This record gives sequence, structure tokens and C-alpha cells, in this order.
Amino acid sequence: MKIGIPRGFLYYKYHVLWETFFEELGIDYIVSPKTNKDIIRKGTMQAIDEACLPSKIFMGHVDYLIPKCDYLFIPRIASLGTNKDIVCSKFQAIYDVVNNTYRDKNLKILYYSIDVENKDTELKAFLKMGKFLGKNKAQILKAYYIAKQAEKTAKMIDLNNQKLLLASSNLKILVVAHPYNINDEFIGKPLQDILHELDCEVILASIVDEKKARERAKNISRTLPWTFNKELVGAIDIYKDQVDGIILVSSFPCGPDSLVNEMVIRRFKEKPIISLVLDGQEGTAGLETRLESFVDIIKIQKEEKEEVTNGSI
Ligand code: SF4
Repeated sequence: MKIGIPRGFLYYKYHVLWETFFEELGIDYIVSPKTNKDIIRKGTMQAIDEACLPSKIFMGHVDYLIPKCDYLFIPRIASLGTNKDIVCSKFQAIYDVVNNTYRDKNLKILYYSIDVENKDTELKAFLKMGKFLGKNKAQILKAYYIAKQAEKTAKMIDLNNQKLLLASSNLKILVVAHPYNINDEFIGKPLQDILHELDCEVILASIVDEKKARERAKNISRTLPWTFNKELVGAIDIYKDQVDGIILVSSFPCGPDSLVNEMVIRRFKEKPIISLVLDGQEGTAGLETRLESFVDIIKIQKEEKEEVTNGSI
């Protein structure tokens, strides 16, 4: 049996957990390639016009995998906490969206379902999925705990690498974006490349102690319902004193991000901040211009502050 893992959405958050779990159970899997023009084109054809760009990209990855695997892996997440910690409804709906879109293809989907609000925890979900894969409880628990440890180690490595970037003397820009946006080859990678060309260190809000970030998000808003947005907003509170500017990045058209980013822009006045909406259209000329002028403004403000501190003004 070969499992197909679409390189989209939650893949960027959970791929170490998923891949290690399957490897430990001896299950063969394939991950779709980095997003390319063909994947975008196919995803756009399959998705409805109103779907957000990451949903379209996800559908493109699904389309790529269908002829290459026996089961498509599409987890479902409704809630990750008992305190009204919901996630964007797309993560609950995508299983059904894929199933309906390809209803004539007799698709087989492997999934797990997390709804902590209704006592369906991650562990329970993995136990059910492992059982479906024909494994016994001891095998599943062993694979799950090894996968959790691998996930923890990978997060620590990312955090340590980010610590090194934060110690750099270059300009540091905090990029606040979901991992599936900022790490996607088509959406976020060009933005990261431009910032690197401008000699900036890119600090990712998605690389953060998630539990701590959810707590710190309360310093900016106490009423945010979406767990993943809470983590990003909390990361702003955690990193704000260590960076020179902040870029809020969302992809078109995203309801949760447009609401949250507007709220952050209104409430957060401590550092230069801009909000960018990426639509995946070809060409980065407009993006380059906006990023260049943002970085120039930060540099000028920084120089002026240093002159005041040094007493030359
Ligand atoms: S949060 Fe926005 S970009 Fe992410 S899945 Fe939901 S609508 Fe799409």
C-alpha cells in the first residue's frame, strides 16, 4: 500500500510527525513535489473560484498524487483545545471537498480526525488510523511516541537556528505567515528570497514555542478564536523586541487572516509593520518594490534613532 501525502496545508506543520509515524510502521509513502506551475494550474481548475490560494494549491497536489498512490492522506482538524480553540474551517472541510471533487475516481482517503473540544485527541486519532492500517496497539503507540519525539527535536533545531539569526547584526524582519504560505515555493519562497537579497534576516513567526505563543497572544487580543492565528499573533509579542520590522503575509482570499492582520495593524504600533496579500500571480516586480521601500524606511528610521542615541542630532 502506498500513501500519497499532498505537500500543502498542514504538511508544513506536521510532516515530521506524519513521515516518522509511517516510517516506523513500515508504511510506504510518497510526498508530492514542491509547488510548480502545473500543480497550480491543475489545482485552480479543480477548486471553486472563491477558494483561498492554499486550497487551490492543495487540490493541485492531490491531483498530482491520485495516479501515483493507493490512499491519499488528508487529516481533518476541527479543534485543538477545549477553550473554543478552533481552526479555519478549511482544515475540517478539505477531506469532503477532495472526496466530492473526485467522486467519479473512486478515491481512497486515509485520514485522522482531531476534535479536542469533543474529546477526539491527536493520540486517539492516530490509534484509530494505525488500526485501519492493520497495526496493533503496541506498534501504533511506539510509532506515535517516536514520531512525537522526532517532531519535538525538529522544532528545537528550527528554534535554535532562528536564535542564531536573531543574534545577527543584519536587519531582522519578522514574517508573520502560516507555514503553508511562507514555505510554499510559489507563495512565500519568492518573498523570502527578496528579503535575503536585501540583506535581511528572515525571522519566521511560525517558528515559535506554540504553547507559549498561544498564551502571549492574549497580550494583543483575548478573543481570537483560531488556534493557528493565535500562535502567529503570540509570536509577534515574543519576537517584537528582537526584530526591526514586521511583515504580515496572507494569501488571497483569506477570511481569518484578513481580519486578524487588520486587527494587528490597528493595535500594534511598536515597530514598522506592513500587510501583504499574495495572490500567486506571476511576477514579483510589485512585491520587490513594496519590500524594498519597506526595508528602506526601516533603515532610515534605524539610522535616525542611532544618531539621536549617539547625540549627533
Ligand atoms: S486560514 Fe485562510 S489561507 Fe488558511 S486555509 Fe483558512 S482561508 Fe485558507
